[in-house]
Amino acid sequence: MKGSCFCGGVSFEIRGEIPDLYQCHCSLCRKVTGAAANAAFVVPASDFAWRSGEDIVRTFVRDSGYRVDFCSVCGSNVPNPTRTGESVWVPAGLLDEPTTSRVVRHNFVGSKAEWDEIGGSAVQHVGAAPAVDPMPS
Ligand SMILES: [Zn+2]
Ligand SMILES: [Zn+2]
Repeated sequence: MKGSCFCGGVSFEIRGEIPDLYQCHCSLCRKVTGAAANAAFVVPASDFAWRSGEDIVRTFVRDSGYRVDFCSVCGSNVPNPTRTGESVWVPAGLLDEPTTSRVVRHNFVGSKAEWDEIGGSAVQHVGAAPAVDPMPS
């Protein structure tokens, strides 16, 4: 599976199946994406490889530790390592090929925007899905 940012400068490859996706509706993910929620998944670091543009990735970390990595040319969110370094968080919108994976969890529904109407049958968590997804903080 290949993925890339809006300008194409940052690209990467994932080996193996794409895992289930989740969406986080918290206020921080809204700021970062400009949308109602992000859509992402996590893969083992050993299944992830940069193809280009790692040198144009920039990082911003809030005091709380919430981290966003983005393409310095086009501003797209790009993959970043989770806190342990053993896995990589990947924004689902960057994928360039079809996947059968679907959104199975909505996190931080308790702090979603009042205009955000969540459809579908995926599980909705008021806060984090414990021990599954990277925590915003
Ligand atoms: Zn870019
Ligand atoms: Zn969030």
